[in-house]
This record gives sequence, structure tokens and C-alpha cells, in this order.
Amino acid sequence: MQATIDIKQVSLTYETNDGSVNALSDICLTIGRGEFVSLIGPSGCGKTTLLRTIADLETPTSGDIRVNGMTPSEARKKRSYGYVFQAPALYPWRTVGGNISLPLEIMGITKQERKKRIAAGLEMVGLSGFEGKFPWALSGGMQQRASIARALSFDPDILLMDEPFGALDEIVRDKLNEQLLRLWDRTLKTVVFVTHSIPEAVFLSTKIVVMSPRPGRIHDVIECNFPRDRSLEIRETAEFLAIANRVRRGLREGHGYD
Ligand code: ADP
Ligand code: MG
Repeated sequence: MQATIDIKQVSLTYETNDGSVNALSDICLTIGRGEFVSLIGPSGCGKTTLLRTIADLETPTSGDIRVNGMTPSEARKKRSYGYVFQAPALYPWRTVGGNISLPLEIMGITKQERKKRIAAGLEMVGLSGFEGKFPWALSGGMQQRASIARALSFDPDILLMDEPFGALDEIVRDKLNEQLLRLWDRTLKTVVFVTHSIPEAVFLSTKIVVMSPRPGRIHDVIECNFPRDRSLEIRETAEFLAIANRVRRGLREGHGYD
């Protein structure tokens, strides 16, 4: 599989008033086109930093990242990334349609084309008919789906998602996991997904990256070979439980308890 994201020996140190923080240390990771890769690890292990580094929102202190053969900065200018934040981050004074429209307006896309893309985006996340609603009138799960539609509005190759469903209850999360998987299957996007949840990581991923803190590094990389059109029932299979146990073991081994 052709590499979409190639991360070589990336380290990142934040300089702060209290000294330096080693957020990432010697990260090597290859993500193929169309993969769904989850980053899992305890709070503070550098998951967000790694995602932001791929997205050109942080610059590594050393090492190299290539995205479709380009630097992250070139890839960002080519609009390769859609980014979904932990909180929905929708503008409250804009309708759902207006929020999805914003990146398209910045790109100078015509009103007629915007309308088409907004409708397609909302259809993709199961929110058809909601374009005129304001974010506060929607549930948390619906807001996060609107954020996903916004991230997809300019059809990026790569979808970067930072704990998008972390604040939602389990039933809603299950539904959104299934929906995201269908979206991934249909659009063939490459997804990098940060989560705290072991079942979520195992259910969604083609590859799980287990990280450990201080300094943030990769502890284990686990391949998952479930069919692309899997359903939630796979969570009861022996294969699923074996992978979940390996992730759990990795998290325990990598954890310092200090
Ligand atoms: P995670 O997303 O896994 O919880 P982060 O990537 O947010 O971890 O943070 C990794 C480490 O870097 C933590 O120790 C955090 O406090 C520190 N950190 C994150 N962002 C900054 C920043 N802008 N300045 C200084 N330290 C930071
Ligand atoms: Mg984080």
C-alpha cells in the first residue's frame, strides 16, 4: 500500500517557563492510503501533539514527516487535511449549513457549489435537513457529526480526529462509530483517530498505535484485519477480545504510575 503519511524519527520538545517537556520521542510510523489508524494512550502521552504535528499545527524538533510525498506545510496548503477537534467547535452564530460553508467560503467556492457540497456533507453524516438549525439546537452527537461534515466539506484525503466522541455516552458513541466506519468505507479517506477507548480503537482501526508517556513514544503497533464493512457484533469475537487484551497489556506496560 502506498504510504500517505510517513513519520520518521520525529521528536518534539515544548519549551515552557517551567523547563522543557518532551512530548514526542523518536516516533516512526507509516500510514498507508485508506488506512484507519488509532492512537491510544494515557493522558499526556502526546496523542494530540502527534496529530497536530501531522497537520502542520506544530513543528517537530527533529525528524521528518511526509504527507503524500510533501511536507506537512505543503500538504496543508493543498488542503489534504480535515481536522475534527475534541469539542465540536462550531460557531454558535452560524447555522449548521453556515458552519460547513465557512471553509468553502474561504476557498472562494461559489454559492451554488457550496449548497451542493453542504447537502452532500450532511447526507454523509446522516444530518440531511438540519442545515438551517443552529448548533445549540442539536445534541452533542449531532454537533460532532456536523463538525465531521465541515471537516469533509473540501474533500480532504486525510481526516484527523482528536477524541471526537470522547464526551458522548456509549450508546451514541457506538452509533457514531458505525456511521464513521461506513463513511470511511465509502469515501476511502485515510483516517488518524485519537481515542482513550480500547473497544472504540479495536472496532474502528486497521492499525492501533499504543503510546506511552514521558516522553511520548510508540509502545506497540497492532494490525487489525476485520472486514471494512464490519458491524458492532465483531466485538464479541475471540479475535476482537485478543486484540483488545493486547492493547490493554500495552497500555499497562507503558504506564509509569508516577
Ligand atoms: P495527549 O493528547 O496524549 O493527552 P498532548 O499531546 O496534549 O497529550 O500533550 C503531551 C505533553 O505535552 C503533555 O505533557 C502536555 O502537558 C505537553 N504539552 C502539550 N501542548 C503543550 C504546549 N503547547 N506547551 C507546552 N507543553 C505542552
Ligand atoms: Mg489530547
